[in-house]
Amino acid sequence: MECLVCGETFEKSDVATQVYRRGGVVVTVTGIPAESVCPNCGNAVLDWDVAQQVEDLVQPLFHWAESHTLPKPVVSIIFPEPLAIAA
Ligand SMILES: [Zn+2]
Repeated sequence: MECLVCGETFEKSDVATQVYRRGGVVVTVTGIPAESVCPNCGNAVLDWDVAQQVEDLVQPLFHWAESHTLPKPVVSIIFPEPLAIAA
């Protein structure tokens, strides 16, 4: 693999951590099953299905924050075991 961001070459890896920021809310998702993760800069390539699932996890948090006037939360999510994907 060669990283599209920093050009580092590396062995295929399978678990990523992604950070999503929107409107002051920070959501960190760990344990994402990834196609590859660059060990140098952390850029991850996700399956489309997995990317959609991560979106589905984080979107409600952003929507919640938009509709409340509380201080913006910093949230950590551990991605659920990818039972359906690990075929
Ligand atoms: Zn990289």
